[in-house]
Amino acid sequence: MIHPQLDSPNRLRRHQLLAHREELATAAIEHLGHDLPGADVLFRAIHLVEQLISAEYPDTWQAHYPDWISRDADRLHNADTPRTDTCRICRTAARAVVRTDLAPPTAA
Ligand SMILES: [Zn+2]
Repeated sequence: MIHPQLDSPNRLRRHQLLAHREELATAAIEHLGHDLPGADVLFRAIHLVEQLISAEYPDTWQAHYPDWISRDADRLHNADTPRTDTCRICRTAARAVVRTDLAPPTAA
């Protein structure tokens, strides 16, 4: 019998599922924070990936689940409380503001 730790396709799949969950969570929180359509679809997709992880890697799910909850909650924000550290939309908006400030004044 192959030990799970040595089974590299298995390890790769677990890694991919975790990475996928992280990408989805980042996008879902960005969408939610900025009232973009599709946040509900993204959250359903997160739930699906979590169910896969829970079914295939129960130990991994158990180890990560509390972390996911607190990290997701920590990253929640809206346009009034921008999170340039975790949100790509906030970062893009901040850069746009800087560019506007640095733009040369138009001729009077
Ligand atoms: Zn944001």
